[in-house]
Amino acid sequence: MRTQVGIIGAGPAGLMLSHLLYLHGIDSVVLERKSKDAIENTIRAGVLEQGTVDLLSATGLGERMKREGIIHDGIELQFHNKRHRININELTNGKRIMLYAQHEVIRDLVKARMEASGNLFFSVSDVELHNVTSNSPSITYTHKGEKNELICDFIAGCDGYHGPSRQAIPEDVRVEMEHEYPFGWLGIMTETPLAHPELIYTNHERGFALLSTRTPELQRHYIQVDPNDDIKNWSDDRIWTELHLRTETVDGWRLVDGPIIQKNIVAMRSFICETMRYGQLFLAGDAAHIVPPTGAKGLNLAIGDIQVLARGLKELYNEGKGDILAHYSDICLRRVWKALRFSNWMTMMLHRNKNHSPFEYGIQIAELDYVVSSKAGSTSLAENYAGLPIEWLNESQIIVH
Ligand SMILES: Cc1cc2nc3c(=O)[nH]c(=O)nc-3n(C[C@H](O)[C@H](O)[C@H](O)COP(=O)(O)OP(=O)(O)OC[C@H]3O[C@@H](n4cnc5c(N)ncnc54)[C@H](O)[C@@H]3O)c2cc1C
Repeated sequence: MRTQVGIIGAGPAGLMLSHLLYLHGIDSVVLERKSKDAIENTIRAGVLEQGTVDLLSATGLGERMKREGIIHDGIELQFHNKRHRININELTNGKRIMLYAQHEVIRDLVKARMEASGNLFFSVSDVELHNVTSNSPSITYTHKGEKNELICDFIAGCDGYHGPSRQAIPEDVRVEMEHEYPFGWLGIMTETPLAHPELIYTNHERGFALLSTRTPELQRHYIQVDPNDDIKNWSDDRIWTELHLRTETVDGWRLVDGPIIQKNIVAMRSFICETMRYGQLFLAGDAAHIVPPTGAKGLNLAIGDIQVLARGLKELYNEGKGDILAHYSDICLRRVWKALRFSNWMTMMLHRNKNHSPFEYGIQIAELDYVVSSKAGSTSLAENYAGLPIEWLNESQIIVH
């Protein structure tokens, strides 16, 4: 089989790329390791930046999101058991965020690709990349017991952190950096009413907590735990006790508890592979970078990379211009590094590090106090949270990484 762009991975990055390329009249094939059912039901992100919402709407994917998603104009920061609202809408001249689960975005994308008779292959195995520095790279894979070869002009590696695409770049060429945090998030999905009209990020002496939502009936909450802890150590009662202690306020507000239908622990880390292009291979999304979830940036960064890649491929195929593709890494990395910075800053400001001295704790609380009491401080948080724009560099602005 032959295609213009071979895409590995049907996460938000791979599916969105395939959708945008279809709209630009460019042929693609998506190869996904998991089943359709599995990708449509895996619970992950939920906060969409204004730019992601605008892109989904502008490309015909906004109908269900607008009906079922929940618009938030701000977030709450809580410390010393008191809440402080950051009015994102006011501080960013009208930007908002949308609470709409990642697996719902995936469902909308899969539906759109299938309605357009897009080439989407699920449950593939043995995916391998070949000749990525030649003009005719290829991907071999097994589907329904048969070995196949997909010959492409370009390969988009949208296969997350553990996928094979990044490994196809020789180790001595790849520029990678990693940072581990001594924090983990225990996340629950619970059948309870909305805790609060907006997300609440809490710094408490027992550790961080986040009250979030997915639908009016389904809530997503998190508590900071040891990253090496075992979920078996956390009974539902123990989780609710911690959530109550960390989120109650001086004026007596108390969270409503109920059945927990899913729970898990994830470790927190930052990772970046600055070599986002190698020959005809382009990495996008989690395949190239991971951020801790405190800034709600992972999915949005994946969509940002894809906007750059899709526009670059459109300019090349439809207008014969290769400038964007030539500077793909530079354009993406400028935004990615700022999101890494913001996610790191939010993480360090909100989590309790048991090794910190009283001095370091004092600085952390002063930082929170500054953010909520200074317009400059809260504006900086608001504009980063709502999402920074993609900066389409011109030649003189290229940063050499
Ligand atoms: C608990 C949690 C909360 C989060 N909250 C947020 C949030 O609020 N906001 C936000 O923006 N982000 C959030 N994120 C991050 C977000 O979920 C990811 O950044 C996002 O999924 C990245 O999309 P992607 O398409 O790059 O990668 P993925 O979604 O990981 O997709 C990669 C796909 O490639 C497939 N694949 C892997 N290996 C192969 C192979 N060998 N062959 C074929 N296919 C393969 C995988 O099965 C997968 O479907 C959160 C993440 C977690 C874990």
